Parts: sequence; structure tokens; C-alpha cells
Amino acid sequence: MAKHTPMMEQYIKIKAEYQDSFLFYRLGDFYELFYDDAIHASRELEITLTKRGGGKGDPIPMCGVPYHAAENYIKTLIEKGYKVAICEQVEDPKTAKGVVKREVVQLITPGTVMESTMLKEGENNYIASLSQFNDGSYVIVYNDLSTGENQLALISSGWDAVIHELYNQPIKEIVISSDLSDELQIQLEERLNVTLSYQDEVTFNAEYRNLTEGLNDERLLTAFSRLLNYIQHTQKRTLDHLQKAKVIELKQYLSLDMYSKRNLELTETIIKKGKYGSLLWVLDKTATAMGSRMLKKWLERPLLNKNKIEERLEIVAGFYRGFMERDSLRDTLKSVYDLERLAGRIAFGNVNARDLIQLKHSLQKIPELKHNLYQFNKKEISRLADNLISPDNILELLESSLKEDPPISIKEGSIIKDGYNEQLDTYRYATKNGKKWIAELEKKEKQETNIKSLKIGFNRVFGYYIEVTKSNLHLLPEGRYERKQTLANAERYITPELKEKEEIILEAEEKSVDLEYTLFIEIREMIKEHIPVVQHLADVVSEIDVLQGFATVSETNNYKRPKFVGNKLNIKNGRHPVIEQVMKDGSFVPNDISLDENKNILLITGPNMSGKSTYMRQLALTVIMGQIGCFVPCDDADLIIFDQIFTRIGAADDLVSGQSTFMVEMLEANHAIANATDRSLILLDEIGRGTSTYDGMALAQAIVEFIHNNIHAKTLFSTHYHELTALEDSLANLKNIHVRAEEHEGNVVFLHQIKEGAADQSYGIHVAKLADLPEVLIERATAILEQLESDEKLAPTAEKTESGQLSFFADGNKTVEKEENQPANQEKVINDLKEMNLFEMTPMEAMNELYQLQKDIKQ
Ligand code: ADP
Ligand code: MG
Repeated sequence: MAKHTPMMEQYIKIKAEYQDSFLFYRLGDFYELFYDDAIHASRELEITLTKRGGGKGDPIPMCGVPYHAAENYIKTLIEKGYKVAICEQVEDPKTAKGVVKREVVQLITPGTVMESTMLKEGENNYIASLSQFNDGSYVIVYNDLSTGENQLALISSGWDAVIHELYNQPIKEIVISSDLSDELQIQLEERLNVTLSYQDEVTFNAEYRNLTEGLNDERLLTAFSRLLNYIQHTQKRTLDHLQKAKVIELKQYLSLDMYSKRNLELTETIIKKGKYGSLLWVLDKTATAMGSRMLKKWLERPLLNKNKIEERLEIVAGFYRGFMERDSLRDTLKSVYDLERLAGRIAFGNVNARDLIQLKHSLQKIPELKHNLYQFNKKEISRLADNLISPDNILELLESSLKEDPPISIKEGSIIKDGYNEQLDTYRYATKNGKKWIAELEKKEKQETNIKSLKIGFNRVFGYYIEVTKSNLHLLPEGRYERKQTLANAERYITPELKEKEEIILEAEEKSVDLEYTLFIEIREMIKEHIPVVQHLADVVSEIDVLQGFATVSETNNYKRPKFVGNKLNIKNGRHPVIEQVMKDGSFVPNDISLDENKNILLITGPNMSGKSTYMRQLALTVIMGQIGCFVPCDDADLIIFDQIFTRIGAADDLVSGQSTFMVEMLEANHAIANATDRSLILLDEIGRGTSTYDGMALAQAIVEFIHNNIHAKTLFSTHYHELTALEDSLANLKNIHVRAEEHEGNVVFLHQIKEGAADQSYGIHVAKLADLPEVLIERATAILEQLESDEKLAPTAEKTESGQLSFFADGNKTVEKEENQPANQEKVINDLKEMNLFEMTPMEAMNELYQLQKDIKQ
């Protein structure tokens, strides 16, 4: 068999350790990829695939990227969820004997990205680890390598809770043990859409001992070590900015299951997956990227502790009142750089002098920030100011050492100020002095020779020289000058004393550049010692920023401070925070809502598009806003602190996930029923919609009854089954409300107003199938179903369903006789259907389109 070259042998050996990554193998000015990596990467990166070698053995597929442009290519691969191993030459090729030694210096993965160009400013970049224990519990560890944050959560309530928890966090990659069953691994990959990584060997790393202080549960230690081991494996260095592991007690936060988080569009919209149109989009009035990230975290974990909520609200109230002061505060905040990520990059070792200048400017802003805060004259806000502890020694160091306008490179000098280091000053003096001497020499030579055009120049090959034009050569005295170079119309000379000075200048210059580099690294290392102080500062600044943002949005959008008075919820003229912003013209119709122990279920009826879903979401969003400490969109609000929110809203997402609407509906309903308490909020929007009439209605009724009798959660239940309004008579705690709609000249006019009592029309009956619900409930549903089916006057017929529904399309088309469908027509309808982009359509548009298609096919 043909033998590989020694270099390819080295490549193959290294690649074997990084099977699941692209190996970027440094070869001179390029990173090269070989074999399958090359084939795969050339496709993903759209670069040319070539071949190497021949000679011995088959040609090897290969492709490459220039190392100075590699970052963009790496970014592309990472964003697609791949990993990239960076393999560098770790000895000088000039002095190397045989093949240059190479090592992987970093494994870049979607969850461990540090390069600022690959990170989104206002978003955390989380990697998680998941560990499973014999007692059935799980531990999740979250880490954001760019900020150093570490959080742990212990989950004892089973796998489902793990998925819901993980779904709530924007994680890019998850580290597990390969022992985790295939089924669970597939679930992680498919439901969370993340990169899976493995770390089987788990050893406690003593270097990180200070991070694990207070973790006295063996499981937490093991789980945390798994993550740290993986970070060590990928980053190949100790990171000083990693923060102490914080255990999150999930019970201290409002729990939102994955359905609710998605359905309520808290941080991104369902269809477009963007921030625009989400609650975060409305609420984000932060002035810094750190603040924006913290806001997102708060939205993902609203509070349960009343004191903590009130503490935030009190500060927001203070910021709200001081309009002028808030304006100055925002201005100051805007000039504070991303301290949190900066701290991470200092630890990682990839900051330049410009970054440190930004750190300096940010630290210089702290006194002003404190001053701004004291201006509010409010003790809660002053306390925040007291918490802003700036590391003065760092600031002094930065001020005394770094020039204001340093270059990007840290290897070319011009970084360190005069007066910071004596040795550097000596070199600089020598350089400066030497240059002055040369200038004087030029003057002297001119005078002595009387050649006005004589000049002293410098080039890399000959160093300093004296240049005399050919027409003046006769003026030069004999013997003193040594000719070095002849040009077309001039001669260049050197003298021994010129060379002597040159040596001093060049040596001083070279030494000073080297020394500046050394000094810079020293400064960076000194700052590293103070990273925790910078991180704490970042934390307080972020909190101030989020709270001033709440005040700003509350004032701009006219929100009111909520009160938490007990087990009564009462909102006057409540509004939907997002829709009112999208509508902008002030035409959003406010509505009241009230819920208490006596009436804890509201059954909402009303025609399609009247505003039922909006009304329900509005309540959930208001509750969440209140529990993160923000004011809420209404004239007055008494709120309840809910422990959990469950929702069953929306349909578009069901199409995306490929599960049938009904299955998703039942999964969500089941999740609510299995986990809700009497302190929870349940929103069930038109449950049982979509298939056969009686199943759906029966299920809907059984679910309402089950919640009413067994759970006592505050519940909003919208339905198009008009028959269900009769439940008000049998269920004491249920109350009917409806959305008013009026008929005007054959058209429905939506008033979007909520009124007491049931709607006076039936709105159509739909169908359902059974899924994974509690047995009692299923039995009850079956009983109701039987009862309904034995009831003659409710026997289902197509006509009945159609005529019973409040229809938008009150035209005469129904009377058109059905004929044989013409194939041409059918084909057109099928084509139209194929081309319909459901995700770009509103439900209303979809209905109109369907109506048109149906009409076409009936003709
Ligand atoms: P339903 O659930 O009853 O079918 P939706 O809640 O989806 O109706 O509302 C349909 C549309 O009506 C919304 O997209 C919104 O534009 C509008 N709408 C709903 N509630 C209001 C309101 N209170 N004020 C103004 N417009 C509203
Ligand atoms: Mg609806």
C-alpha cells in the first residue's frame, strides 16, 4: 500500500481525535481541509474543491481558506450547527526539523463561540449540559462562555419537565453523556434543534474549585464538572472569567411551559421567529446590550416573590416619575460598553488595546452614572448607585498606561503612554534623539557641501543614506563618503557615523515595539485579576438599564403600576401590549377582566375574528409583565401572583411541527391538567376545534368540568360550541362572557368589546379525536358524547353546522347546484392550493382564499 507523506500522516492522526468537527489544518497562510471534510466543507462554504498529491496513492480531495479570512467561513459553519477544530503550527517552520509540529488550539462549537463577530449583541449564547442520575433526577447546567455566567437547575419531576425547561432557554448546544438513551437524544435534537456534544469522562477540576463553593449536592458537582470538562476540552485553556455556579430554584419563578412560551410569543414570534412582534420587542427600551440580555432572561423567568416584584416596581416608579433625570441616565448608559463580554474576552486573551480603551471609557462613566442615580432622590435607586463599585485601580492603570488612540494590532507599538515605563522611555528617547541627530546632520552636510538638494533618507535595504544628485557630485569632498547605491540621477552614500546612529535608532525601535507588547500583555493580565469586580459592575448596570427601560416603556405606552392584593384579579381597560403597538392608530379597544375564587372560569363566546384569542393572550402578557416588575397596559390593575401559566392557543405552529392540530391541542391541554394548581392561570382557546362535532364538544365540556371540580385554577376558556354556555347553570364558579359583534346590512361588524353573558348565536361546531388525557376525563367525555348522540334535535348534519355558524360570507352561493367537477377547474384549484403560502397569510386571508377555491371547484 502507498504510504502517506509525513505531513498527511500527522493530519490523519490529529483528525482522528476530532471526528465530529471540521479540522482546519494550518498550512502556511491557509487553513486546509482534506478528504470528507473537504468535500463537505466545499459544499457548505461554496468554495472550490481541489486535489492534492497523486504520486503515492490516490489524490486527496482538499479545499482551503486563507487564514486572515477564516473567521467568516468558521462563522458560517458554526451557524449551521457544525464544530470547527483549529489546528495551528506550534513551532517556527524556519527552525523546525521535519514536519512542523501542529496542535489543535481551540475547538469552536455553536455553544462555545467567543469571537465577537459571531455573537449577537443583545443575546446570550448558551451551552447547556444535561446529566441523568439513577434516582430519576436530572441536572441542567447553563453556561454562556462569552459572559462567564453559570447556572444549575435540579429537576426531579421527570423528563417532560427537562424538555420544557430546556426549551425555555435559547441554547445552541447541549453536552450529554453517550449513555443517555437514543430516544431521549433524538428528542433533544428534534424538539430543541440544538447541536449534541458528548462528554463521558467527568473529572472534578481543582482549578475551578472556587466556582463550585456551596454546591454540596454530588449531582450538581458531577453535572457542573461535565460542562467544565467539555469547556476545557474545547477551549484548551483555563478561563478566569467563569463565574460561580448559581443554583436556580425553579420553584421561585413563574413556570411557563414550552407551549406557553411559544404561543405567547414572549421573545420571538411563532412564524417569523424574529423579535419584531414579540413582547420583548415592545418592552426592550434598554440602552445597553447587557441590559437587553438581562431583560430577555427576566422575561424567561418572571418572579413569584411578592417582595422582589414590589422592589422592582418601586424602582420603576421612581424612574418613571423622574423624566428629566431618566433622560440623562439613558445618555450615560449609552456610553457604557459591553463590560460583561469584555470581561470574558480579557480572560480568553483576545482583547486589543482599543478594547481596553473602551473599558477605560466605561469605567470613567461610573461616577456620572452614580450621580445620575442619586438625582432621583429615592432610597431604592440610591441603593443601586451604592452598588456600582468601580475598580479604581484598574481605571488608574488604564489611564496611566494606554494611549488614547491605539492601533488594532498589539504587535506594532504606539500603545503605551510616555512615562509609564522607564525602559520604554529610554528607547523612545534614543530613537527620538537619533532622529534629531540625523536631521541636524542633514543640515550640517548641506552647509558644508553647499548642496541645497542633499538629503538623508531611509529604506529597508540600505538603512539611512545621504543622497546627492548627479549634477552636484563634483561638490562632494573626496574620501568621506562610501557609495552604496546608484540611481538614474543620484548617488546614495553612507558614512561610519551615520551607520552608528542608525544601529542605535533601529535597535531602540525594535526593542520598544517588543517591550510595548510585553507591557500590554502584563496590563491585560493585571486586569484579569479584577474580572469579578467588572462582572459585578456589569450586573448592576444591566439591572439599572432594564428597570429604566421598564419606566421608559411604561411612560411611552401609558402603563400603570399593578397592585397585588390577594386572590382577586381585576383589570380595568386592559390592552394587548403588542397589538396596540402594531395598530399604532389608537384603535385598540380596551376591555375589563375580573376573576376571583367565586368566578374563576370565564367561558368566552363570540364569532371568529371578534377578539377572543387577543383577550386571552392579553391577560397572560399582562400577568407576565407584572411579575417581571414592569407596569402593565391598562387604567388600573389588581393582579394575582400566578405560579404557572398554561396555554392552548394558536394553530400555525402546529403546521410547522408537523403534528396534527388535534394531537398538539390534546398534549397541551393534558400538560395543563396534569400540572396546574389553584394558583395557576390556564388559557384554553377553542379546544376541540377541527374535527367531528360531538367528540370535540364533549371533550371541551369534560375539560372545563375537570378544571372546575378538581383544579380550581383561574381559567379562560374560549369556545365556538355555543352549547357550552349552558354550563353556567351547573358549574357555580363559571361565568359566561362574550365578544360583541353586530350584524350590519348583512355584514358582521366586530366591536371587540367584552360583555357579560353568552353570545346569542351558535358559532359552528367542529370535530376532535381523543389523546392522552386523564381517564376520568375521557370517561366523562364519553358519557357526554353518548348523551348528546341520543339527543335527536342535536343530531349532526352538514347543513346544520353550516347554517348554525355565524358566517362571513352571507351571499347566495350555497344555492348553486353541484355539478360534475371539471378536471381543468380541479387542476387549477390544486395548483392554487399548492402555491398558497400559509405562513404569510392571516387566518382571515386564508379563509377568503379557501372560500374562493371552494367556489371555483363548485362551478
Ligand atoms: P378570535 O380569537 O375571536 O377569532 P382574535 O383575537 O384572533 O379573534 O382577533 C382577530 C383580530 O381582531 C386581531 O388580529 C386584531 O387585529 C383584532 N382585535 C382583536 N381584539 C381587538 C381589540 N380589543 N381592539 C381592536 N382590535 C382587536
Ligand atoms: Mg381565536
